[in-house]
Amino acid sequence: MERIASFCVDHTTLKRGVYLSRQDGDVNTWDLRMKEPNKGDYLTTGAMHTLEHLFATYARNSQYGQGVIYVGPMGCRTGFYLLTRGLTDAQVLDLIQKSFAFMEAFEGDIPGASERECGNYRDMDLAGAKREAAAYARVLEGLCPQKMRYEA
Ligand SMILES: [Zn+2]
Repeated sequence: MERIASFCVDHTTLKRGVYLSRQDGDVNTWDLRMKEPNKGDYLTTGAMHTLEHLFATYARNSQYGQGVIYVGPMGCRTGFYLLTRGLTDAQVLDLIQKSFAFMEAFEGDIPGASERECGNYRDMDLAGAKREAAAYARVLEGLCPQKMRYEA
């Protein structure tokens, strides 16, 4: 089998940020890298799961909701995937910045965190999710649309 494109990114030099991973027709896949790979610091499953519920809920309800195809966690627990359609790079960055500001400040019941709605609803960590959202929000502050590309 051929090695898929995302494995061709050199994970030894990756910095935190937002990177365009793939373009499939009009669908863009973005890598939201919240942790540097293989540095011993990863999202916990509870924090990541909570971020997933909050991020997906916010993104789909945002002004950009029609352009959001998918939000989901990376299995390596270093970030998230975001698939969009019809959004400019600047709109994607705005969406991500607003999403993480929302998550950083979130209080209350986690959307979808019930036995009926989720496959592991007890595995939630809102405090951890808020800490991770806050840390990544600082990374996002330093980004601009032109930086959202992997180095060739
Ligand atoms: Zn869930």
